[in-house]
Amino acid sequence: MSDQRPFRRARILCTIGPTSRDPDILDRMIAAGMDGVRINFSHSSHQEAADTVRLTRAAAVRAGRPLAVLADLQGPKLRVGDLPEALHIEKGSEYLLVAESDAATVAEAEPGTRVIPTSWKTIGEDLHKGDPVLLDDGGLAFEVVEVVDGQARLLAANDGLLTSHKGMNLPGTVIAAPSLTPKDKIDLERALEMGADFIALSFVRQARDMQELRELAGERALLIAKIEKGQALDHLGEIIRIADGVMVARGDLGVELAFEEVPIVQKRVLRLTREMAKLGITATQMLESMISSPRPTRAEVSDVANALVDGTDVVMLSAETAIGAYPVESVSTMDRVIRRVERERQLGDPVMDPHRTVLSQVHHTVAGAIAGAAAEATTRLGAPFVVTLTRSGYTAWVMSAQRLRVPILAVTDEEHTCNQMALAWGVIPLLVPGGLGYDEMVAAAQRYALEAGLGHPGDPFVVTAGVPFHVPGTTNYMRIETLAEADA
Ligand code: PEP
Repeated sequence: MSDQRPFRRARILCTIGPTSRDPDILDRMIAAGMDGVRINFSHSSHQEAADTVRLTRAAAVRAGRPLAVLADLQGPKLRVGDLPEALHIEKGSEYLLVAESDAATVAEAEPGTRVIPTSWKTIGEDLHKGDPVLLDDGGLAFEVVEVVDGQARLLAANDGLLTSHKGMNLPGTVIAAPSLTPKDKIDLERALEMGADFIALSFVRQARDMQELRELAGERALLIAKIEKGQALDHLGEIIRIADGVMVARGDLGVELAFEEVPIVQKRVLRLTREMAKLGITATQMLESMISSPRPTRAEVSDVANALVDGTDVVMLSAETAIGAYPVESVSTMDRVIRRVERERQLGDPVMDPHRTVLSQVHHTVAGAIAGAAAEATTRLGAPFVVTLTRSGYTAWVMSAQRLRVPILAVTDEEHTCNQMALAWGVIPLLVPGGLGYDEMVAAAQRYALEAGLGHPGDPFVVTAGVPFHVPGTTNYMRIETLAEADA
């Protein structure tokens, strides 16, 4: 079943949760334009994650197109522990931040002390007088008055209600906790066993964090670095170099940094990601109001459109599709906004594509040279599509970063690669049986192109590939072919 609507280039990733972990809703979300699912291991049990993967794979078969599965690991997210009851925070009052294991003892020994327990064990080492501590997405702000015996006395800067397990952010504080926690290591293995196509790691601070993930995951999945810590910005180039892509995780980013930094960081991260020909995902609060409303706000529509103009490959839905009342409408809203922006871009409006970026980081590589030559030939010949024969998908990612006006038909016999390419900007992934040669793979692409109305017999098109064929990552071949008649 091929979608007969005009081809959409940017991709839509949807977080799956209680409202969408359902075959019928998933079918409708796919029909509305979903290209991949995200499983948030901060909120999903292993059983729920396994159910999501199983339901997604079944829905992809019904829809007749690949879908990507991204497993999002929690990382060293700091949280408030179990509170016996909600705590009223009063501006000007003091609270004691204590490791969860000591909280009961402290509360007993010092009756009347208002204790905030936390899962974080190295408070005494990491916090200093004057440091800010933000709880519940920054809604409750405190300043450290004193750190004694591994406990921190906090002064509240505003009023509010604190409940158990709220997130904690410490802008500027360097935390000793490892980036891959014991929970992450277990979740990673389970996610890989379930066949996740992408693994995202939260709160990446330096390149070493991604390196550690790479050593554990190997080539079993593509790796996404979530950019949400100020520290990560000091090591951005090295982090992106090791990762296969990044997520601009604006939820925590906007608490870790001053919120006015978010749009600047988004542009900077997406630009560098593109220069390196890696995958860029823009996440969080994109259509937040649609959690409870069937229509987005104008500001949200503009935000989605601007992320596309910033060069994102993927726009992501979070609570909108995980717990919201309008998961299908949220996807179709994204789809509408993307199509409108792309229609303008196709007309050649430079405002819609300010970053005709030189892919400076891959410019002098063989894959970059082939992709550049293929793009140039496609434009000069007026070819209606490009064909990429790929095992690992790498050439398709580099080609995608060229931001061609025409679709890239990426033909592979690797199911995992096919699913991963479901998130590649401008790529149509095609899965073919194993063991086919060049002619048969190109013929499969031609059949698709004719069926989908992408070209007419006699049209020229460029093919790129790697020879020898079954060695991944060896793109070195380009040839110009002519689209044959349907039954040729
Ligand atoms: C974010 O903080 O924007 C994000 C995507 O991470 P999470 O949803 O895991 O908090």
